[in-house]
Amino acid sequence: MPSVKVLITDPINEILIKTLKEKGAEVDYRPEIERKELLDIIENYQVLVVRSRTKVDKDVIERGKNLKIVARAGIGLDNIDTDETDKRGIKVVYAPGASTDSAVELTIGLMIAAARKMHAAMNLAKSGIFKKLEGVELAGKTIGIIGYGRIGTKVGIIANAMGMRVLAYDVVDIREKAEKLNAKAVTLDELVKESDVISLHVTVGKNAKPILDRDKFEKMKNNVIIVNTSRAVSVDGKALLEYIKSGKILAYATDVFWNEPPKEEWELELLKHERVIVTPHIGAQTKEAQQRVAEITLQNLLAAMKELGMI
Ligand code: NAD
Repeated sequence: MPSVKVLITDPINEILIKTLKEKGAEVDYRPEIERKELLDIIENYQVLVVRSRTKVDKDVIERGKNLKIVARAGIGLDNIDTDETDKRGIKVVYAPGASTDSAVELTIGLMIAAARKMHAAMNLAKSGIFKKLEGVELAGKTIGIIGYGRIGTKVGIIANAMGMRVLAYDVVDIREKAEKLNAKAVTLDELVKESDVISLHVTVGKNAKPILDRDKFEKMKNNVIIVNTSRAVSVDGKALLEYIKSGKILAYATDVFWNEPPKEEWELELLKHERVIVTPHIGAQTKEAQQRVAEITLQNLLAAMKELGMI
């Protein structure tokens, strides 16, 4: 039987390359391949492995006439056109949940940084100005969690341990889970009206509309802190800028931007605003999460290859 041909087009943990070779696959590791060349050669491969740089869109999938599996070494499928892979019967594997703890810890870090103005205080201190900026305490405040899945649930548990009251909203029924975890399942409007901190943890589909829009900003308390480590499109960015500027929103602490890096004028204005705290999408960037992503993707990829009789 001829060996399976695997193309890897993003930088990847070497455990994946090593194990695939041990299983008899012919692996071409091309982490910097340009799109044009990818389109030219993709038909020679049965398996394509990517992280986030490579866009596996309709063109790539159509040209990949022999593709059977696309593996994304990551926790989501934003860069894969899953409608097209489904249409062509191509299996897609990835590693959902592999970076949950890392994303939870970053969320809590951003929330505390916003409440205590840590970014501004640090900048002042580093420039030799030891000015004491006053923040707000989180114990006793209410956090509203939008999207009560893997990450949202854990953020709630930690916030609760910090003395916060936890409200949660999801599109699926979370009442039983919330009750067990000392949280209260509420409607989106209730959450928005009652929260001092709002943290977003939803998964979003392709044409998702913002969950936090002008109407929701209007209903929020004054001095609310918004934390977003999920996806930027869940927030109406232009409206957010207005409410940040008006002072109604105390801080927007985010790991995600609409364009990464930001390029629209309103995005750049948000980016530079002193009450906007930004990390450059590092939610999953820990040694442990990256290792787990590689291991889980590999397990899922090998299972799919076995199922298709490739190994
Ligand atoms: P999950 O699937 O476990 O949970 C998502 C929850 O959101 C689900 O319970 C779902 O029902 C709910 N949901 C979907 N649409 C909703 C809506 N419109 N309103 C309310 N709830 C809605 O996902 P997760 O693993 O907890 O990840 C959450 C988000 O965090 C994802 O968007 C993921 O891509 C992102 N994430 C980001 C990083 C990062 O690097 N910043 C790292 C890991 C995960």
